[in-house]
Amino acid sequence: MLWHPARTHPGRARGLGGLVSETLRVNPIACTGRGVCAELLPELIAMDPWGYPIVPRVELDDELVDLARKAVAACPVLALTLEKR
Ligand code: SF4
Repeated sequence: MLWHPARTHPGRARGLGGLVSETLRVNPIACTGRGVCAELLPELIAMDPWGYPIVPRVELDDELVDLARKAVAACPVLALTLEKR
């Protein structure tokens, strides 16, 4: 299930005792490579030589989930999403 603030109301999955994890995903077709997400979340997102984000598929801890939500909300083309598992 993909989450984006423009599509759904964000739930607090962390209240489920760790049963739900979240990972960041980028849609490489939609991404325009402006790098807003990397500026907002340098702890996780790097840029490739062409200016496109490199997003590791790791489970985010609570602190990174909050920052990731801000990066998702700031993506101008809705290419960045949080995936819940
Ligand atoms: S903010 Fe969105 S469009 Fe910009 S680099 Fe990140 S994923 Fe791509």
